Amino acid sequence: MKIIFNKHKLIKIIEKEKNLGFVPTMGSLHKGHSFLIKKSNSQCKKTIVSIFVNKPQFNKFADFKKYPRTLSKDVKTLKKLKVDFLYLPSFKEIYPYGTNRKIKMHKFSKVLCGKFRPGHFKAVIDVVDRFIRIINPKKIFLGEKDFQQLKLIKKVIKKNILPIKLISCPSIRLNNGMSMSSRYNNFSLKEKKILDKIAIKINSCVKELRKNINLSFLEKLNQELRNYDVNKIDYLEIREEENLQLTEKKTKARLFIAFYLGEIRIIDNFILY
Ligand code: AMP
Repeated sequence: MKIIFNKHKLIKIIEKEKNLGFVPTMGSLHKGHSFLIKKSNSQCKKTIVSIFVNKPQFNKFADFKKYPRTLSKDVKTLKKLKVDFLYLPSFKEIYPYGTNRKIKMHKFSKVLCGKFRPGHFKAVIDVVDRFIRIINPKKIFLGEKDFQQLKLIKKVIKKNILPIKLISCPSIRLNNGMSMSSRYNNFSLKEKKILDKIAIKINSCVKELRKNINLSFLEKLNQELRNYDVNKIDYLEIREEENLQLTEKKTKARLFIAFYLGEIRIIDNFILY
């Protein structure tokens, strides 16, 4: 595996690669990331992974500082997965002239996380666009764990007619049913146990909703989560996959949830119909 820090060197090294799969990450890799990488290995001739903790997309500096970083472990994981290139840029490499504030956002950015994290998606779109332009991959592999992010990136690719195919990958979950997340590295043992209990409540709500769409299940779950040290629930909503609109119908829809356990924000979504 070639590890590359410099944009110009990277462009030179990969310029002849016509079938390159790209997996962008913020590191602290887990089996969710591995799934994306394996998918890329199976569909593309070569795979490039980036690790870049994108400061502009964090709403609080403390959150950026605390984001888990496990680079040497990640490098071992990537070598085992036979990744061809690892791109590890610095902030200056990606933003030589600062961030792009002129990005026009699709209306999907107004709901869910977009409502609670001002500027977050603008920063995500900015960084993904920069990476795509540097790497020029054939395919980009993204996880459905970040469903709204995936939908927004899909819109940007379409709007800018970028010659790149987005491959959407299912959430890889812990035994308790929650999607794996790098942020879980920061949980104490006590918090992990609480999360297991919370997961049981979420899973049973999902089961009920799959049988019968009834918003009272959401109210019940909302109450239950507050009994488990969850002091802030950003959203708990059923939305259609296609247009992210609220729904009470059995159309293709998911339960979307975002809440704080202690200081750590958890997001997840569950296919209902
Ligand atoms: P991150 O490193 O958290 O920014 O995530 C990098 C990519 O991995 C994004 O496309 C995420 O949606 C995806 N991802 C993160 N967690 C999971 C998971 N549990 N299952 C599948 N994909 C994931």
